[in-house]
Amino acid sequence: MLQLHFVKGGLTFLGIKRINVLSAAFQSTQRVEYKPIKKVLVANRGEIATRVFRACTELGIRTVAVYSEQDTGQIHRQKADEAYLIGKGLPPVQAYLHIPDIIKVAKENNVDAVHPGYGFLSERSDFAQACTDAGVRFIGPTPEVVQKMGDKVEARAIAISAGVPVVPGTDSPITCLTEAKEFSDKYGFPIIFKAAFGGGGRGMRVVRSYEELEENYTRAYSEALSAFGNGSLFVEKFIEKPRHIEVQILGDKFGNVVHLYERDCSIQRRHQKVVEIAPAALLDPQLRDRLTHDSVKLAKQVGYENAGTVEFLVDKHGKHYFIEVNSRLQVEHTVTEEITDVDLVHAQIHISEGKSLPELGLKQENIRINGCAIQCRVTTEDPARGFQPDTGRIETNIPFLQNVLNNNQFLQGTVDTQFIDENPDLFNLRPVQNRAQKLLHYLGHVMVNGPTTPIPVKVKPSSVDPVVPPIPMGESPSGFRDILLREGPEKFAKAIRQHQGLMLMDTTFRDAHQSLLATRVRTHDLKKIAPFVSQNFNNLFSLENWGGATFDVAMRFLYECPWRRLQELRQLIPNIPFQMLLRGANAVGYTNYPDNAVFKFCEVAKENGMDIFRVFDSLNYLPNMILGMEAAGQAGGVVEAAISYTGDVADPTRTKYTLDYYVNLAEALVKAGTHILCIKDMAGLLKPKASDMLIRALRDRFPDVPIHVHTHDTAGAGVASMLACAHAGADIVDVAVDSMSGMTSQPSMGALVACTKGTDQDTGIQLEKVFDYSEYWEVARGLYSAFDCTATMKSGNSDVYENEIPGGQYTNLHFQAHSMGLGNKFKEVKKAYAEANKILGDVIKVTYFDIYYDYI
Ligand code: ADP
Ligand code: MN
Repeated sequence: MLQLHFVKGGLTFLGIKRINVLSAAFQSTQRVEYKPIKKVLVANRGEIATRVFRACTELGIRTVAVYSEQDTGQIHRQKADEAYLIGKGLPPVQAYLHIPDIIKVAKENNVDAVHPGYGFLSERSDFAQACTDAGVRFIGPTPEVVQKMGDKVEARAIAISAGVPVVPGTDSPITCLTEAKEFSDKYGFPIIFKAAFGGGGRGMRVVRSYEELEENYTRAYSEALSAFGNGSLFVEKFIEKPRHIEVQILGDKFGNVVHLYERDCSIQRRHQKVVEIAPAALLDPQLRDRLTHDSVKLAKQVGYENAGTVEFLVDKHGKHYFIEVNSRLQVEHTVTEEITDVDLVHAQIHISEGKSLPELGLKQENIRINGCAIQCRVTTEDPARGFQPDTGRIETNIPFLQNVLNNNQFLQGTVDTQFIDENPDLFNLRPVQNRAQKLLHYLGHVMVNGPTTPIPVKVKPSSVDPVVPPIPMGESPSGFRDILLREGPEKFAKAIRQHQGLMLMDTTFRDAHQSLLATRVRTHDLKKIAPFVSQNFNNLFSLENWGGATFDVAMRFLYECPWRRLQELRQLIPNIPFQMLLRGANAVGYTNYPDNAVFKFCEVAKENGMDIFRVFDSLNYLPNMILGMEAAGQAGGVVEAAISYTGDVADPTRTKYTLDYYVNLAEALVKAGTHILCIKDMAGLLKPKASDMLIRALRDRFPDVPIHVHTHDTAGAGVASMLACAHAGADIVDVAVDSMSGMTSQPSMGALVACTKGTDQDTGIQLEKVFDYSEYWEVARGLYSAFDCTATMKSGNSDVYENEIPGGQYTNLHFQAHSMGLGNKFKEVKKAYAEANKILGDVIKVTYFDIYYDYI
């Protein structure tokens, strides 16, 4: 029977004979010289070139890349130690097929060996031969073996001669349709036309009836001709629903062959592998033995050297049939590496150097399966459009692969080569959100183009992360909030009034960074330091952490929820009262809201942790303030009615905002039931003498009401004024931690603590803790340098007493002037502001954040 086959395919017969002799010769007489490889050229591109370079680098071998003109910027070029252009003027594929250029590069650059990768020239015996002729080693089998394995008809004959079962098929290429008819008459349909020199699933046509025969023959022929330069076809019986299982082999120059077990590549589309798995699921151990045994036998038969794959189909009855040998490294080699722990490229190189498999530790009994590995081929094809080639980012067939991996039949390990064709639901693709891609894109954009949110100045944030000072363990010490919760707002106010020494409100969590950093500080940085504040500053009157700008910036720029910020800070700081700024009937917005909205807002704010509501109106318009006060009071909050301060009560020439004006207003507010009275000096106009006059007058008139003073340090006299206020009877003054104080922000906490230490106004705060707190903010502030007013403003300025610009607005105007190229004319800008104020009848001026942000 066998003999007959050989006679029919005489040429094959002769070939086998010769190989048999050769392989016998290897085993007996061949002496192989060991020649180390020092430099490898990879005649390929992309992933596989990089893969081989990696192995070379691991082995201390120098690497050489070749690249086409179109691939000048490709990564494989950069990954190699040397790189040379090939195929000048040719299309990209042709360049990598240009044998003379590649050989030239190899010879001119002392290359010891060429690795062909997969595809391109990897299975071209003429290339293997050209390398050998040029004295360069070809990392792969000998040219003769490459040639035999490249011819599928010949490979089949070799399999037969080795006693390996093949699919019933023609023993030689067919020359006319009649031969195909004869074959189908004998074996019945379906049959398959296959290109004798084919690969990559091309040149293959399944025929299920006589009617389809001719057309498929013609098509397969022309496909084979155009793809492989040779139209020669042979015919095989088409096996229905087989599994594709292949065996990885390694052979050395001494005739040793080992296998590295199998891979299941049944998941295919158009006869091309899509998913590869090692080892094959649910494979009968006896069948595994037959497959691996046959593969080794076949490799030995041809004197197979280096890495190769023997491919089989396994039918529904567990019968296996040889289909072809791939005499090269395969795309899916990595899954075998994963489960056997053998680096196949290392092995290929060592074998080429002349090492034997036993020398490499590759004895069959040492090679074991450990675990399993799956590879999916991510391609630039769009499954939703019939796997059409696609351009752009490589995302497209990933959802399809996910469907395959989640498919029940796949999970049960019972798939065959027709799986994809028979499961249309694999094409129900969920549109991908590409969240990770989008995020990467965004980060890349920010890295290259800077922040996407508007910033006033192009200063990079510091790369140093603020370090939180050590925090004592355990619960926070009790603070004034405990009194408030226990006894309610009235008694809380009483306790404040009775307290000995000066009390402080810390504005670092709001007004300080509003004035210096355009309110950009994120909850993240506030939360980090919050436990430290809770532990060390429990005797603060309150912590200001909320206001209109908080809402505006959190939602417009930070994409944060201001409510969540409140909740989270509340959890971290349970002991210190929180204070917010409420714009009377405007709440935290820029317009008059319906009363019930303001009431509800206060109610919810209180529920979420707000304690003290500083209610103000930019024009000191009483009805607006009263509404806010009622809303805060009804919500159960502490009401702190704030009088906006402007002008100078100590200047007898100013007749609009006199001492009487303020005292009368305070009278009305106290009458309306405020728990605390506040002087809100937004521009920092309150000088020490005026402080003394104003606070003393209020103190005398309202001996029982706590007085709270807020100022900005724009001119630099803030500390002096606050000390004067304290001396005149103020209970509480506003400060910001040192590194967030001064200029348009509040006066320095450390300065106030130090200056009152040991006096009647002693704050009871430990100065060392202020230093620690300040150090955190000094570093944290660096993260916001693009928003830091010090980018353009270097100092405070006493001309604020002339122009009366509120702190936040001053910063804004300064940025604005600079951005409009008026940086050197800021003095004139300020003068114009003062003139406008006079024309408008000397109004109270506040920083409104819609004005502030419109320009950035
Ligand atoms: P290529 O060289 O293109 O890889 P193969 O001969 O390895 O060609 O076949 C590729 C795939 O085509 C196989 O995995 C299998 O799915 C299908 N195929 C090939 N021959 C047959 C056959 N005789 N019966 C059924 N399917 C076949
Ligand atoms: Mn194949």
